[in-house]
Amino acid sequence: MTRNEETMTTNNFHVSIVDLPRQVGSMKEFDVTAPAPNDMGTAVIGARPGSPIEAHGTLTSVEDGVLASGSATIDVHGECVRCLGDVDQTQTVSFNELYVFPTAAIKHAEDGDDEARDLFEVGENSLDLEPAIRDALVLRLPFKPLCDDNCEGLCSECGERFADLPDDHVHEVIDPRWASLGTLLNQAQADADGQAGSGQDGGK
Ligand SMILES: [Zn+2]
Ligand SMILES: [Zn+2]
Repeated sequence: MTRNEETMTTNNFHVSIVDLPRQVGSMKEFDVTAPAPNDMGTAVIGARPGSPIEAHGTLTSVEDGVLASGSATIDVHGECVRCLGDVDQTQTVSFNELYVFPTAAIKHAEDGDDEARDLFEVGENSLDLEPAIRDALVLRLPFKPLCDDNCEGLCSECGERFADLPDDHVHEVIDPRWASLGTLLNQAQADADGQAGSGQDGGK
């Protein structure tokens, strides 16, 4: 059994670094599956909380920290902006993030390196992949999720999804100038039906 590889299901995306030598260029593979946290995504689409996210890749020791590269597979759920129907996708995202040692982060900050504030930090014994996965996913998620690129949305008359309606779905829009004529015709039809009805009754 090799100690270089981890395949595990955990509560979070922490990958142990105790077995990753600090020597630059040392590598370790990881394969982690953990439930999605609540905020994995944007306001309109994101991972279903608790759904499993699988991430795998390699950690590489570098001068100031650890480089985490890999990919994650995430089931996302949202609502179509046109028809409000479900949008369910499986996203596979890649990440390649530098995690710096806390000492290096402090040094960067002291040097006035503003970008240092955005760097992820290596924890004491582990490295948390969650922010790397979240950043990669958010970049990939659509601003306006669609159930289908050709989604026609909702019928403005009845509010039904066009996808659920027959192709020839239309609502009779009667020109008001003809509306009174239509009423007269309907009335005449009703009268005729009424007479036919009474005629039948009489025949019995
Ligand atoms: Zn839609
Ligand atoms: Zn309609």
